[in-house]
Amino acid sequence: MIFIAHDLSVVRFFSDDIAVMYLGQIVEIGPAETIYSPPYHPYTEALLSAVPIPDPDAEQKQIRLSGDVPSALNPPAGCRFHTRCPRRGELLPRDSKVCETAVPLWRTTEYGHRILCHIPLEELKKVEPVVHRAP
Ligand code: SF4
Repeated sequence: MIFIAHDLSVVRFFSDDIAVMYLGQIVEIGPAETIYSPPYHPYTEALLSAVPIPDPDAEQKQIRLSGDVPSALNPPAGCRFHTRCPRRGELLPRDSKVCETAVPLWRTTEYGHRILCHIPLEELKKVEPVVHRAP
C-alpha cells in the first residue's frame, strides 16, 4: 500500500519504507527508521523541523524555507531544490554553481538509505539532528 502525506509524524507511524518527494522527484528514500535521523536531505530536514514534538524538554530546530515553490511543470535546472535550499551555501563552497547546473548524485548509506544531493554523505552525516531530547 502507498500512503501519501505531508505530515512525517503520521507517515512514521505505519510505514516500512519512506520516500520524500520535492517537485515530483524523489529526493530521499529508505527504511522508515533511517529517515528521521541524519544524514538527511535538506528538504527532509526542513519537513522534520515542522513536525510537532510532544515533549516539553525536547529542543527542535526551526527551519523555514524561503522563496516560492517553483512550478513542477518547469522545474529549476540542476537540483530542483536549489532555489530554496538552506544548505546550498553552507555545506558547499559559496561560489559553487554545481547545485544550479548539475543534477545531484545519489548518496547511499550502509543501510540502503539514499539521498539525492551534491553534499558528500560524510558531510550530511555531521548535520545535527532536528530534535534534541534531554538525556
Ligand atoms: S544538491 Fe545542493 S541545492 Fe540540492 S539539496 Fe543538495 S545542497 Fe541543496
